Amino acid sequence: MSVELNGIGMTSQRTRDRLVDRLKSEGIRNEQVLDVIRNTPRHIFMDEAISSRAYEDTALPIGHGQTISQPYIVARMTEALLEGARPRKVLEIGTGSGYQTAVLAQLVDEVYSIERISALLEQARLRLGGLNLHNIRYLLGDGHLGWKDMGPFEAIIVTAAPVEIPHELLEQLSDGGKLILPAGPSGAQQLMLVTREGEEFHRQLLDRVSFVPLKEGIQQ
Ligand code: SAH
Repeated sequence: MSVELNGIGMTSQRTRDRLVDRLKSEGIRNEQVLDVIRNTPRHIFMDEAISSRAYEDTALPIGHGQTISQPYIVARMTEALLEGARPRKVLEIGTGSGYQTAVLAQLVDEVYSIERISALLEQARLRLGGLNLHNIRYLLGDGHLGWKDMGPFEAIIVTAAPVEIPHELLEQLSDGGKLILPAGPSGAQQLMLVTREGEEFHRQLLDRVSFVPLKEGIQQ
């Protein structure tokens, strides 16, 4: 691995180990999720100017008014996604920096990732290719619509918050599939786990959260 990926000082392995210790103390238990976070260089998913903060447990700006999700939230959502039967094929909405995509791509067979801002999508594609993660397909699109041609999905993870759960996403879940998403208006969002059983959808509240909104349409 190159020096850039290994990191030095504030981006070193020791700094990453400290982040993992913190996630454990916050209740993250899945060892595979913790290992992947320990081994994924979060600092390459942001501007160098702020990369010294990459292993703090906090969301950080990635441009275009968007943020890279807080590591605890990435871990919590990924843990929920892997619980029980492990999904093989996962749809992610809100590629953003690509960090959550990188974590997922190391834990499941296929990741389909949708982003509405083309500059973010292209940057994420390059970074993820640079990490040799090739089990990812990308789409510039509006995540409200999902990715019908590639569905159904055993799990769908959404990293921006719609006010209401988009029905297309429920339709693109396979039987037994899980949708993990923040939903609700700004200031009152809930991280939900929706599990499909035939035509029934069971909802469970995981956490209170604060995500950027899921927006309409695409931005070239
Ligand atoms: N998981 C990303 C989170 C980025 S923030 C990371 O950790 O870096 C949420 C992302 O969702 C932003 O990049 C935003 O542009 C994107 N987004 C918002 N609305 C969307 C929509 N309708 N379809 C696809 N992506 C959307």
